[in-house]
Amino acid sequence: MVRKTFGQVINDDVLGPYFNPTTKKGVTVVSREGDMKGKTTGGCYRCRMEGCTGIRIATRWEDGHMTYPCSKGMRRHMKSWRIL
Ligand SMILES: [Zn+2]
Repeated sequence: MVRKTFGQVINDDVLGPYFNPTTKKGVTVVSREGDMKGKTTGGCYRCRMEGCTGIRIATRWEDGHMTYPCSKGMRRHMKSWRIL
């Protein structure tokens, strides 16, 4: 049973088979406009939006700020992730 506590760190073992490699550290994330890149920090927590089974991925952008995009709102593109 996974508690849905905000900010909880979830690892691959807990997430199970529906998990994808987004929470690996250092994976490139490309912004919606394609003009900015970030890297995953390895942190994540389960999305709290009602009915959403996505994972919020901690991403640090080139300018240093952090966001937590939902994996359901991203698409895999080669070895990186693109925010939709
Ligand atoms: Zn979500």
